[in-house]
Amino acid sequence: MNIPMVDLRSQYLKIKDEVDKKILDVIDNTAFINGDDVQMLRNELAKYLDVKHVITCGNGTDALQIAMMALGLQPGDEVISADFTFIATVESIALLKLTPVMVDVNPDTFCIAPDEIEKAITPRTKAIMPVHLFGQCADMDRIMEIAEKHNLYVIEDTAQAIGSDFTSEKGWTKKAGTIGHIGCTSFFPSKNLGCYGDGGAIFTNDDELNEKINSIVNHGMKVRYYHDRIGVNSRLDTIQAAVLRVKLPLLDEYNLARRTAADYYDNAFANCDKIITPKRFNKSTHTFHQYTLMLNGVDRDELQEYLKSKGIASAVYYPVALHNQKAFQGYNYNPDSFFVTDKLCKTVLSLPINTELNNDTLKYITDSVLEFLK
Ligand SMILES: *Cc1c(COP(=O)(O)O)cnc(C)c1O
Repeated sequence: MNIPMVDLRSQYLKIKDEVDKKILDVIDNTAFINGDDVQMLRNELAKYLDVKHVITCGNGTDALQIAMMALGLQPGDEVISADFTFIATVESIALLKLTPVMVDVNPDTFCIAPDEIEKAITPRTKAIMPVHLFGQCADMDRIMEIAEKHNLYVIEDTAQAIGSDFTSEKGWTKKAGTIGHIGCTSFFPSKNLGCYGDGGAIFTNDDELNEKINSIVNHGMKVRYYHDRIGVNSRLDTIQAAVLRVKLPLLDEYNLARRTAADYYDNAFANCDKIITPKRFNKSTHTFHQYTLMLNGVDRDELQEYLKSKGIASAVYYPVALHNQKAFQGYNYNPDSFFVTDKLCKTVLSLPINTELNNDTLKYITDSVLEFLK
């Protein structure tokens, strides 16, 4: 047995003919940058998400940086984000010389805790950057309410939740990444909508922001060689757009396959008091970028070693909270204010989740976990 966290190869083999043809078409017509597939992907993604504008870029980290540049945030401005996320979220804040203010997360959803956001607001706060972690939306009702009250921008990091639906208590349903002022995603190969290299995208319903973002991703220019602002070079190349155009129509099916695997895990572990299965948030669908459970009184290292001996991969997302990362020393965080994150870092474990898991494999994985915990 060899069960990896993600299985991109089996997924590729099912769409190989179409993907290979599309890639060869791009090579054949040599429009490697800004070829037709790029614009078509932007339109198709905008339609899928029901958002006015989609701007593609080089990767998800760039997307976040470009979003903050477009909002005109200035050095010293504070941006509030979660302490429990991939480094890219907060790194992009620090890179622009803005001040990252990390706050604790909700113990059920692992997403940023709205009450903690409110406590962290100062006169210098300019934006909130919620992360829709592991495939589930943060509480966007509360976050938008807080943002309106304090006149803040909201940038959604939806790198792990593309395709998830958020249903507001006000009745509307919107796709993750289309609720705040700007949404950012990543097409890194292992993400729910992954390409075959690096890629990212930015979403907005605001025409003015759209114009700025289009300019920033392309050296700050609208008319060739006339530069209106300092920008960056961040593009999704045509080959990646062509791959994504094959995969986008399958995204809902892919997300359903992930959810079905997650249901299997939930059922298998339902009666095990040493495992706390991931809670489903009633306002959001869960697209399970990761299936992340919490262990209760279990030696995580030993369990991981045991699973490895049975050929089963597992991973810890994330072993170190951002406030404890070397890179963020010097920002003076109060180490006592991350109760939930600190606990999660010690107890979470992610099991293999991808679009290609069948019941035999899932049974082998869950039997092995339960065998160890017996
Ligand atoms: C993957 C990821 C990113 C960064 O995306 P890249 O394309 O790898 O730059 C940002 N935020 C989160 C939450 C991610 O999971």
